[in-house]
Amino acid sequence: MEDYPRDLAEFEARFSTEAACREYLLRLRWPDGFCCPRCGGRKTWPLRGVLLQCSSCGYQSSVTAGTIFQDTRKPLTVWFRAMWWVTSQKNGASALGLQRVLGLGSYKTAWTWLHKLRRAMVRPGRDRLSGKVEVDETYWGSEEQGVRGRQTETKTLIVVAAQQDGDGIGRIRMRRIPDASAKSLMPFVEEAIEPGSVVHTDGWLGYVPLEGKGYRHRVTFLRGKKQSPSELMPRVHRVVSLLKRWLLGTHQGAVSHEHLDYYLDEFTFRFNRRTSRHRGKLFFRLA
Ligand SMILES: [Zn+2]
Repeated sequence: MEDYPRDLAEFEARFSTEAACREYLLRLRWPDGFCCPRCGGRKTWPLRGVLLQCSSCGYQSSVTAGTIFQDTRKPLTVWFRAMWWVTSQKNGASALGLQRVLGLGSYKTAWTWLHKLRRAMVRPGRDRLSGKVEVDETYWGSEEQGVRGRQTETKTLIVVAAQQDGDGIGRIRMRRIPDASAKSLMPFVEEAIEPGSVVHTDGWLGYVPLEGKGYRHRVTFLRGKKQSPSELMPRVHRVVSLLKRWLLGTHQGAVSHEHLDYYLDEFTFRFNRRTSRHRGKLFFRLA
């Protein structure tokens, strides 16, 4: 059973103390109660802060090991408030907003936190897309005159995968890639999509190795077609236009190439959970 606060009042009532936050993380980590990684013992002595000590063998574990809270010197209550805030912003979170809400002294700290939270919002390698998936690339950056097709110098190339869900779009994945070669495209496909799935692309050479990697490859040649690419591969093009609108609207397009990865993570996280009814559920998944 997923356990999370429904609204701000419930959140504040539950997570006002370090002990309450620690207890929550402990229950996420050991849903059936603590179990010592060394001896299997089930009883603990609480130590300082986030540490627990097994009462049979003395082994010390931390409720924050392997999480974004690891190595933090800030109180868990502040981190929890940050998570709550980030997941409850409808159109995305800014470092400035986070700094204000938490009363953080430095903008740089807020920025670092936001990046950590965004990274954690997308769990790579898990829950790969499957079934029928459209894949295409798009550019982000200033329009260049005289540069056509897949050659680019200053623009950033992004590869996008959108799973088919009836007439609509299921889940998505996206990543910044250095170029549109098979060497750049295949690792993305393998990390994002289950082998055996139908991968639908245009006729670009970079997708030729798909069959050899265990995918069923459906190719739509765009040249000579009456329909536009957005009609031939509607889902991936819809995702691309939503992404661009979101980047332009939420961040005024002021997204530097080096930080683009984080924004892609946040967009993907929000898109894939757009049907989640409760904000609190986003919080739970992030925690
Ligand atoms: Zn033990």
